[in-house]
Amino acid sequence: MTGATFSYDDVIRAHERLVGIISQTPVLTSTTANERLGAQLYFKCENFQRMGAFKFRGAYNALAQFTPEQRRLGVVAFSSGNHAQGIALAAKLLGIPAVIVMPTDAPTIKLEATRGYGAEVVLYDRATEDREAIGQRLAYERGLTLVPPYDHLQVMAGQGTVAKELFEEVGSLDVLLVPLGGGGLLSGCATVAKALHPECRVIGVEPEAGNDGQRSFRSHLIVHIDLPVTIADGAQTQHLGRHTFPVILERVDDIVTASDKELVEAMAFFASRMKMLVEPTGCLGAAAAFGDQLDLRGQRVGVVISGGNIDLTRFSSLLQGAL
Ligand SMILES: *Cc1c(COP(=O)(O)O)cnc(C)c1O
Repeated sequence: MTGATFSYDDVIRAHERLVGIISQTPVLTSTTANERLGAQLYFKCENFQRMGAFKFRGAYNALAQFTPEQRRLGVVAFSSGNHAQGIALAAKLLGIPAVIVMPTDAPTIKLEATRGYGAEVVLYDRATEDREAIGQRLAYERGLTLVPPYDHLQVMAGQGTVAKELFEEVGSLDVLLVPLGGGGLLSGCATVAKALHPECRVIGVEPEAGNDGQRSFRSHLIVHIDLPVTIADGAQTQHLGRHTFPVILERVDDIVTASDKELVEAMAFFASRMKMLVEPTGCLGAAAAFGDQLDLRGQRVGVVISGGNIDLTRFSSLLQGAL
């Protein structure tokens, strides 16, 4: 199967595997946000997903399809955090040994949570080492199956269930805003949107400092960039994937960016108005809605809030910087 044949059916089958295991996360609204924008916003809150982000969906969907031999030998994943925790939790639930390759500078809360789920953590230096090479070496030496964070059809299918639940709850939307790192979430959600409501405009939102996705989308070639400097640590990816890119080109309408300052403003909004903790990456879609790049007046807008994993100390220092 190539990216282009990746379809809504794959998402339906993923959802069948996930129902009863994942949390069906709430769709919340805010009168303040609606009034401010003159639009109707629906926030799909994956910050309330198990382990705190949508990544659990794709991870569980991939691991649930392991053969008995793969299950016995185990899984290896590389991630700056949420994918690692998603794999670690899914592996624990399915009784599969897990090895996670994480950067030495990953947020403490994410390192601890990954170890807390019983996974073995192998640390590497982001600046000098290549996590993919380390993951592949471990896979080869120990017979582990590598599950990448986004460029994997079963992972993409699992992430698409976020949009499936959103549409099933709120019906049609004019616009769907989705945070973008490597494109697992965006490719899955766009596939659902174009199958159920082809008129819905699907817009990916990535950090301003790392707009490789936007450049790739415009040039029709996968653009590689240096490690972007942004507070959105879940979207510090350097390029889109072999599988995610063709799906994004075909099914996404546009890609826009949000600055770190806009992310912090959105974090403050969610905390003060909606009483919830959202990590910087989780705010990408909302920051684009609140900013002035898109005219959303009179529209029904779905906003994927992708995760809520952030240390309280980091949260408060980011917010203090904003005051
Ligand atoms: C991984 C992640 C993203 C980006 O997802 P991709 O599938 O890599 O595009 C966005 N938000 C959060 C919270 C994440 O953990």
